[in-house]
Parts: sequence; structure tokens; C-alpha cells
Amino acid sequence: MPIATTNPATGQVLKTYDDMSDEQVDAAIERADLAFRQLHGTTIAERGRWMIAAADLLEAERDETARLMTTEMGKTYAAAKAEVTKCATACRFYAANAPKMLADEPADAAAVKAKRAYVRHQPIGPVLAVMPWNFPLWQVMRFAAPALMAGNTGLLKHASNVPQTALYLEELFRRAGFPEGAFTTLLVGSEKVDRILSDPRVRAATLTGSERAGRSIAQIAGRELKKTVLELGGSDPFVVMPSADLDKAAEVATTARCQNNGQSCIAAKRFIVHTDVFDAFAEKFAARMSALRVGDPMDENTDVGPLASEGGRDEIHAQVRDAVDNGATVLCGGEKPSGEGWYYPPTVVTDLRPGMRMWAEEVFGPVAGLYRVDSYEEAIEVANGTNFGLGSNAWTTDPAEQERFAVDLDAGNVFINGMTTSYPELPFGGVKNSGYGRELSAVGMREFCNTKTVWVG
Ligand code: NAP
Repeated sequence: MPIATTNPATGQVLKTYDDMSDEQVDAAIERADLAFRQLHGTTIAERGRWMIAAADLLEAERDETARLMTTEMGKTYAAAKAEVTKCATACRFYAANAPKMLADEPADAAAVKAKRAYVRHQPIGPVLAVMPWNFPLWQVMRFAAPALMAGNTGLLKHASNVPQTALYLEELFRRAGFPEGAFTTLLVGSEKVDRILSDPRVRAATLTGSERAGRSIAQIAGRELKKTVLELGGSDPFVVMPSADLDKAAEVATTARCQNNGQSCIAAKRFIVHTDVFDAFAEKFAARMSALRVGDPMDENTDVGPLASEGGRDEIHAQVRDAVDNGATVLCGGEKPSGEGWYYPPTVVTDLRPGMRMWAEEVFGPVAGLYRVDSYEEAIEVANGTNFGLGSNAWTTDPAEQERFAVDLDAGNVFINGMTTSYPELPFGGVKNSGYGRELSAVGMREFCNTKTVWVG
């Protein structure tokens, strides 16, 4: 993919960039390695002050940064502003909590026949972050804030369609006070990832992206014996049981499917509804989906902007057509609009069956699959009947059923009576083909730490 800013609302290419040469990449890795040693000499309090300065800059520059994201990938301006604010919150969270998360943990010295024994969390070095375009600031920040606070350095290979946001991130940390090389953007295509991850100075990698990219990075990291965290795709279930508040469930279902123009890994994608409330829920849900306003992402009245790429829109339309051609029913949407911009209407498809693409694949756009089930057991079977296991949602007011869902849903996140969301306070990640490892909270920070046992006799 060429490295370029192309406005999805118009299809116009606004700015293109040349790939960095191997020499430029090598120099950036060298700077990241030197900065790692430099960070070693800094205190957590010092890094915390820089992290708070980054939060201040984000807040002061919220509107311009949001406009940049909307221009590069089409999310609504309102959503982009909220994303900038969320990033500032994460910076503050890690500035405040890193001292506690990284503090030495004393062990029972007598039990291990020592005078003193403890666990220390130390940084490991430069970490490569391969990131997607869908939350171009947040996906990076949830890696960068804990990594930098721990004393690691970051090398960002961002998605090729968000180069200006990628460059903004490098500048942000530099202006906040972090040493030169602590956080560097590498403007390179994905074919350069093998060479970068094979460099002995690069200690680990984190990828947020597709299953295909995950397999590729895991293979390279396996060969090089390097740690990876993989945040991959999802096809989250959203189960509605008879006791649920149907109006609330339909309202949240609409947001959960269409936020970020339907391009979120943790968007609810499969709506699995008990037969007793299926018709009532389907009617409310389709009505709300049809009422969403699709249009210019800069317009404050817009709910759903364009998809980030023409190829992405073609893909979801092909998934809908495949379902319809094989007997599925469209309750609303389903037609690809003509005219400029890569828009797609909020769509609800039902009567889905195994063998259809929508049954098994992730649908990365505002298209919901609606499934009728007769029992709790069938709901779990359909919910877990996918290769993914990222987020999951269940709607029920029955406390016993809530507990059963928490145990039985095969996913990294279970949200009851709410939509899956990432919070700095809670670990985030998936199981099965949604990846492994966790981001956020202390768990995420320690993924790229050497958990060192210290025993003093
Ligand atoms: P993608 O094609 O995998 O791209 C993501 C990043 O990986 C980009 O920087 C891309 O670079 C790079 N990349 C692509 N193929 C690669 C390869 N073979 N080796 C190394 N790097 C490679 O993903 P996408 O389609 O843009 O993003 C959407 C996917 O990300 C969805 O599946 C979504 O669910 C997932 N996602 C997951 C999470 C999570 O937290 N689990 C969050 C957000 C998104 P180029 O741009 O240069 O190709």
C-alpha cells in the first residue's frame, strides 16, 4: 500500500510519502536503542512528568488532531475528539499508576531460604508497534503510554493510510520531553516488518490488526524468539435474553455496531436474540439502525461517516451480497450508494446460516447479523461458534444468568448489559484467533517488562 493520506469522504489523495530507506530505518533503531539506555537513567517521576505533558498537549490540540484523524480515515469529528480525550486520560492514568505497577514486590524470604527476595519489573528495550488505522491515536497510545512509563522505547509502524497521525505521535512525545528516539515513527510498508523485527536491538513486537498480519508477525517473532502481543480481529456476539431491557439493548446495539463507522474490533457484530423477544428486538434495532444519519464526517449531525477505504466497502458489500444470494433477508440497508465517498448504510441481515461468509467472517463495517435462538444453550453455542474471541455482550437482568454468561462466553472481555469498551483500568485482549497477550492495566504494562526474580542470601 502506498503511504498516503486519502480522504475517504472524497476519495482524494491529499499527501503522499516516500518509504524510509533501510539506512534511515537502521538509524532510527539505533536512536531507539540509545534512548532506551538514556531512559534507564531517568526516574518514573520524570517519565511521569513527560507523560502528563503529553496529555496536556493532546488536550490543547484536541480539535486539530481530531480533524487530522477524520481526514485520514473518516471517523466522525465528534468520535475523533473523544478519542483524543481518551488518549490524554490514558497518559494521566499511567503517569499516576506506573509507580505502583512497577514497584518491587516483596516475596516470603523465609520460604525461599533468602535474607531478602523480591520481584522487580524492568523494561526490555525497543519494542516494535505495528498498528491499524481504525483508532489511529488510541491504538498507539494504549501501547505507548505504559511502554514509555516502564522505560521501554517505541518504534511505530503505523497503517499506511494514517501517516500524518503517525508523525504527530512521534512529535507529541518529543515535545512532551521524552528523549530523542524514545518514540519514533517508521514510514515503511508492511514488507519491511520482517527486517525490523529481526534486528537484534528490537526486543519485542505488538500488533493490532488482522489475523493475517498476526500470523505473519508471530512467525517472524517465533523464528527470532521474541515476545509478541497480538490484538487481532473479532466477531463479537451481543446476546439478548427475554429479561433484557429491550429498548436499552436496541439503543446500545446500534451504537455498538456502528461506532467508528462500524470499523471496530470490539464492535458487536452478531446479534443473537432469544426467540421470545426476537421480533420485538428486531423491529426496534432495525428502526434505530435505519434512523442513523450517514454523511460528511465533519458534520456534527452525522452518525456514520465513510468507510476508511474503497476496498473495505467492497468487502462488506460482498459479504452482504453473499448472504442474500444464499437466502438471507435484509431488514434495512444493504445497497451500496453511488457518488463520491466510501459510504455504506447501516444494514441488518437475518436468516443467516453456516456456510455464508457473514456466519464465519468478521464484518468490518456497519452491518449487523441477526440470529434467532431458542434457549440459553443455543445462544452460547452460536456466540462461541466462531474462531474469534475478543469481546462479548449479554443482556439479561437475571443475576444467575449473568454469572453463567460471564463463565460460558469464550472471549477476552464479557460485558453484561453494556457494550464492550476498553478502559486503562482493565486488561484488554482476546482468545482464539483474536490473539494473545493483554494491553492496558498493570497486566498490559508488564507484557513488555522483564519480571525479574531477585534472591539475596
Ligand atoms: P491489517 O491489514 O492487518 O493492518 C494493520 C497493520 O498491520 C498495518 O500497520 C499494516 O500495514 C500492517 N500489516 C498488514 N499486513 C502485514 C503483514 N503481513 N506483516 C506485517 N504487518 C502487516 O489490518 P486492517 O485491516 O487495516 O485493520 C483492521 C483489523 O484490525 C480488523 O481485523 C480489526 O478487528 C483488527 N483490530 C483489532 C484490534 C484489537 O484490539 N484486537 C483493534 C483494532 C483493530 P499497512 O497499512 O502498511 O498494510
